Amino acid sequence: MSGQLDALKNNPFFNGDIDTTEATRKEKSRDASIFEVLPAGVISPRDVNDIQAVVRWANDQTLAGNPVTLAARVGGTCMSGGSLTQGYILDLKKYVNYIGEVDVEARTITTQTGAMHLAVETTVKEKGLLFAPYTSSRDICGIGGMLGNNASGEQSIKYGPTSANVNKLKVVLSDGNEYEFGPLSRTEVEIKKQQPNYEGEIYRRMTALLEDNAFTIATNHPRTVKNAAGYQLWDLWDIHKQTLNLGRLFIGAQGTLGIITEAELKLVKPGSYRRMIVTPIGELSHLAEVVKTMLRYDPISCETFDHFTYELAEQLYPEDAARAHVARGKHMVILSVFEGETQHQTDVIAGQAKEMLEKLGHETFWIDDQATIDSFLLIRRKSFKMLLEHPTPHTRAEAFLEDTIVPLENYGAFLGELEGILKEYKMIYTYAGHIGAGSIRLVPLADMEAEGAAERIMELETKVNELVITYGGSISVDHNDGIVRTPYLEKQFGAEMVKLFEEVKAIFDPNTIFNAGKKVGGTYQYAVDHVIRDNVEG
Ligand SMILES: Cc1cc2nc3c(=O)[nH]c(=O)nc-3n(C[C@H](O)[C@H](O)[C@H](O)COP(=O)(O)OP(=O)(O)OC[C@H]3O[C@@H](n4cnc5c(N)ncnc54)[C@H](O)[C@@H]3O)c2cc1C
Repeated sequence: MSGQLDALKNNPFFNGDIDTTEATRKEKSRDASIFEVLPAGVISPRDVNDIQAVVRWANDQTLAGNPVTLAARVGGTCMSGGSLTQGYILDLKKYVNYIGEVDVEARTITTQTGAMHLAVETTVKEKGLLFAPYTSSRDICGIGGMLGNNASGEQSIKYGPTSANVNKLKVVLSDGNEYEFGPLSRTEVEIKKQQPNYEGEIYRRMTALLEDNAFTIATNHPRTVKNAAGYQLWDLWDIHKQTLNLGRLFIGAQGTLGIITEAELKLVKPGSYRRMIVTPIGELSHLAEVVKTMLRYDPISCETFDHFTYELAEQLYPEDAARAHVARGKHMVILSVFEGETQHQTDVIAGQAKEMLEKLGHETFWIDDQATIDSFLLIRRKSFKMLLEHPTPHTRAEAFLEDTIVPLENYGAFLGELEGILKEYKMIYTYAGHIGAGSIRLVPLADMEAEGAAERIMELETKVNELVITYGGSISVDHNDGIVRTPYLEKQFGAEMVKLFEEVKAIFDPNTIFNAGKKVGGTYQYAVDHVIRDNVEG
């Protein structure tokens, strides 16, 4: 391997760091997923020129018969194993993290993708603005990872996922050049197609693929409001604006088609006043009616957590649990936050939602003070983290089954069956999530040192994915396919769509230098072989 790196080390145009020490490789062998994969090394480029040099080196090596694959990484909080690789980690967080000025009038900011979300949030907050798709991992994740996974958060029911909050991107493609992607009119697309170069070839091949397979693509979209599984072929043409945006393809592609170097992000001005209402759910069959009713009143967030989460909060965040006491003893609670320009206007809408829910027979609580609102949201956001800190011996919290989405009308029945499966496997778990968008995060505790644990986990993953598909859902809403769900893409979409995903991969990355095994080519056996085998939290 070190011989392979010599060409990069000796390249006078490459000024980044290369680290192949055991300690660094071990540190980057895990993320927030259930997998462990030891990389060959970690490369930290200093700037875009370095990224280009690394990509060219990876191509040269691969064509010379020494395959290299590169997995971009920023925060390393991916729950599907997106940045784990036996090749080289491209660590963007260390240097490629410049954050530009906020354009207050246009409500945009341009940032390099190695910037951490928290740094961007702090910068835009000073101007009274917000990058709306912030995640529950907002303090520890990066912009590159949010783009790579198409992450979404508690305000995404109003403002959409990351993809809806990006104007344009710069991407280093497999030829080592950097290109800009954003919406193009039909005329501009035709001009691109005439170019006698790689960019022209991409536009020619992608427009042909979309046109020739329009029916297959249109008929294979999961019936959910959001989906991160597969390549996002559905969202490239905007039929209303008559524009094509190939940039959309890189968002949620987990770095398998190119390295996103820079993004112009859209910002929003948050309302100044808030009100929360909380609706406990006793019977799962009531869930769909409560959430659908709530959504008619346009809350900025509609979240949930279950009774296991609340019980953990009683142990770990007792003051917050005391404030959120109306959740005690309830199967789950729905937290809806309304936002407006005046407190009166906000209260009128929240009041109407509460009144309607009560008319339908669903007890609903009015949450007056900010401290209690914050406590409810803290318990929701800490659901996974609390499980990590759960004192049950001989287990660890495992992020699998954690990213399902089904159409809202099917949620009650789906959750009932899901809980049945988990009971059968004697699993302790919590769930919480962006229920307004139809997604929940179910995280079980598992003894990873038990014999056959890896096989059991992947067996359960298979059962739950099959259940999700039966209910018309998607196996991934936010956390993406990674190592854990790529093997199920054929079950989700069918063989024809998987063939299209392979064609897309071949157009952008013919030599598989970008994140091999994610989205295309990942196998069930690879997943089983790389499941973590200890109960030590990484
Ligand atoms: C406690 C906790 C809570 C979470 N809550 C949420 C939530 O509410 N919503 C949600 O959506 N997710 C959530 N996540 C998952 C995760 O935090 C998000 O997906 C986050 O956006 C990942 O960012 P990162 O910088 O850590 O990504 P990384 O793990 O570094 O990378 C994620 C993926 O993006 C790719 N990538 C990174 N940079 C680039 C780039 N420049 N170009 C191309 N590809 C790139 C990587 O190769 C990888 O496939 C949570 C995770 C944890 C641990």
